[in-house]
Amino acid sequence: MARINLDHIRHAYGAKPKSDDDYALKEVHHEWVDGGAYALLGPSGCGKTTLLNIISGLLHPSEGKILFDGKDVTNLSTPERNIAQVFQFPVIYDTMTVYDNLAFPLRNRRVPEAEVDRKVRETLEIIDLTDWANRRATGLTADQKQKISLGRGLVRSDVNAILFDEPLTVIDPHMKWMLRTELKKLHRQFGHTMVYVTHDQTEALTFADKVVVMYEGEIVQIGTPDELFNRPAHTFVGYFIGSPGMNLLPAKIQNASAQVGSQTIDLGFAPPADAKAKMELGIRPEFITLGGEGLPVTIKKVEDTGRQKIVRAEFEGLPIAVVMDEDEALPTDAKISFKPGGVNLYRDSWRVNGEA
Ligand code: ADP
Ligand code: MG
Repeated sequence: MARINLDHIRHAYGAKPKSDDDYALKEVHHEWVDGGAYALLGPSGCGKTTLLNIISGLLHPSEGKILFDGKDVTNLSTPERNIAQVFQFPVIYDTMTVYDNLAFPLRNRRVPEAEVDRKVRETLEIIDLTDWANRRATGLTADQKQKISLGRGLVRSDVNAILFDEPLTVIDPHMKWMLRTELKKLHRQFGHTMVYVTHDQTEALTFADKVVVMYEGEIVQIGTPDELFNRPAHTFVGYFIGSPGMNLLPAKIQNASAQVGSQTIDLGFAPPADAKAKMELGIRPEFITLGGEGLPVTIKKVEDTGRQKIVRAEFEGLPIAVVMDEDEALPTDAKISFKPGGVNLYRDSWRVNGEA
């Protein structure tokens, strides 16, 4: 197990990158704590696989260094880095049995056969393939093959880190949930540094202690699920996490108040003036109260989600979503107010510090 430092890493796939846009991965300077469970979350194409492959050594970064426990490993291969990586699609030996597929990474490292047997049987239990141990992998279904891939990632206990690149994509939903629970349990039991790539917020939030949110080649926030929910550092985090995402209202700031259309909202602090910047208020639907007092809105639509209802309304010509309890009644003369601590201020998409 290792602490992993990414030291001013950048990556461009093309030669001679000139501007920031030429980099698939913009500068990353970050420490992954030894034994941490991280999720790398972001939409397709944002650079998750690029970052993961740089950590594992499949990809050499254009710039910067990678350190494991303070030692520079930038020029070391994946085997030399002692990393296990599980990919989105199965990587297995079709002609070998399920058992031998799992034993392979251990035998490769000359682990004594008794220990191989113990670890393989333990792993077969975790991936629920004990009954298939002596079958050749070739006849198995796609999700069984992927479980073998996952098992090959988990079978070694001496690795510096285990990296997962959207490993459950081809697995059916129920099994997905079970395997994710197993991974969490294994993490608690063995304390490996784990990095889990996904584009699914539920998967990220349930697996990780810390979620690393990526957007257009950049890490926009690293935080606990609570931090991402309560204090999104970037408007993208507000939008991507939560359902529905955070409301964004373009505003004019004057001293300690924000002007949205004809309405004034008290911020409680005065951010430094910057006439050129794009200023927005970010308010999650859960932090808005719909009632008879506050700022007038027009209700457009109500969506029922079972436990809650999502009210789609219009405020000063802008769409705004409000989450209400199922049994709360809709007011006839609808007005909104913001709960304490629920208003975030953004300047050019980045959160301005200061309690609003
Ligand atoms: P993600 O895993 O988040 O979907 P990737 O890291 O695969 O994103 O890709 C990030 C960006 O880099 C994308 O724009 C993608 O098209 C580009 N990219 C990825 N791999 C290559 C490659 N081998 N050659 C050129 N461009 C690539
Ligand atoms: Mg990817």
